[in-house]
Amino acid sequence: MPKDIATYTRTQDILKRHGFSFKKSLGQNFLIDPNILHSITKAAELSKDDAVIEIGPGIGALTEHLARTAGQIVAYEIDNRLLPILDETLQPYDNVEVIHEDILEADVLKMITEKLSSYKTIKVVANLPYYVTTPIVMKLLQARLPLDCLVIMLQKEVGERMVASPGSKAYGSLSIAVQYYTDVHVALKVPKTVFVPAPQVDSVVLRLDRKLEPPVTIRDENFFFTVVRTAFAKRRKTLLNNLISLSVPNGLPALSKADVQDTLALGAIDGSRRAETLSIAEFAQLSNLLYERFRP
Ligand code: SAM
Repeated sequence: MPKDIATYTRTQDILKRHGFSFKKSLGQNFLIDPNILHSITKAAELSKDDAVIEIGPGIGALTEHLARTAGQIVAYEIDNRLLPILDETLQPYDNVEVIHEDILEADVLKMITEKLSSYKTIKVVANLPYYVTTPIVMKLLQARLPLDCLVIMLQKEVGERMVASPGSKAYGSLSIAVQYYTDVHVALKVPKTVFVPAPQVDSVVLRLDRKLEPPVTIRDENFFFTVVRTAFAKRRKTLLNNLISLSVPNGLPALSKADVQDTLALGAIDGSRRAETLSIAEFAQLSNLLYERFRP
């Protein structure tokens, strides 16, 4: 088996030979600890029956671990300077394809249909670029791709928001969005020291398992997320005071304070509560009531 890319010496050697300089704007922090890579692939429970989508292979440190354990890897990399490096480092593996594309622009469903449809399970495994963590995760979840799970490394603070429970400071619209689509837990805590260059913040690896069914019944998903975002708009304000500024898509008429008060009363939800105390089920109930009462 070829030597691991993810050691300090091998990484420096590869970067130097190719004259590569890191672009902070692309979130380029490369892993240099093989133990972390073992833990990430272990958390993904990979087998040769799995196809893996990786986002941001960098110089291939994680990719080669994925290639050794999974059946097929498709990796999206935005930085064209990394393509010749990946050509070289991933040369021993014939089950990896690198696509030079911004993941936020990519038609991932089309790619899955064309390249990965023969696989029983498709997983996302990635050390994400931290400047776009949330848009990437939301895109992958909202596109309703046939993904089994996502095992992703991201900044600790954002990870904590994704797993947060009602009543905690970190709980917010991101927690609700992630937990609406997936069962999520922290698989691993990762210190700054295992990257070059070291990022400013510590990291975590999360595992998100797709829920087969949504945890709550929602009349209109877009409206549900609008209600959630509005409820959290000003965290110091009460639920009632945030909700009176509810913008009303889907043709709903503008709501008065009395409309919101009556709806909260109907759902037996105290308007003086803060949004962070409401469970997903309560948000579902509230958005369904608003939708049913005020839909034109
Ligand atoms: N996987 C490598 C590792 O663990 O060492 C590198 C991870 S590094 C944190 C993030 C990678 O994502 C970089 O290679 C960067 O160029 C790439 N990247 C940044 N933005 C991207 C985007 N929008 N689409 C695809 N790749 C992106």
